[in-house]
Amino acid sequence: MNPQPKQKRLILTKTAWIKQTQRLMKESGYSCQVCGRVYYPEENCLAPHHIRTRGAGGGDDPENIIIVCNECHHKIHTGEIKLC
Ligand SMILES: [Zn+2]
Ligand SMILES: [Zn+2]
Repeated sequence: MNPQPKQKRLILTKTAWIKQTQRLMKESGYSCQVCGRVYYPEENCLAPHHIRTRGAGGGDDPENIIIVCNECHHKIHTGEIKLC
């Protein structure tokens, strides 16, 4: 039997995840990486989105996360916006 090709997948704890999200939002300048709108951090309009979902083997590493506004986030999940 072949050993399963293990993809390195980073899963963060909740605290680390929140920290990373805050950092990524700051790095993005609190702008949506899809529509480019800029928000105030206190508006709570931005959310992290897994480009490759956990179900598809995606992890919590920053390369797999984009910061998007709630509006775009919704559209990504309904398929209105395609990331690639
Ligand atoms: Zn947006
Ligand atoms: Zn999402």
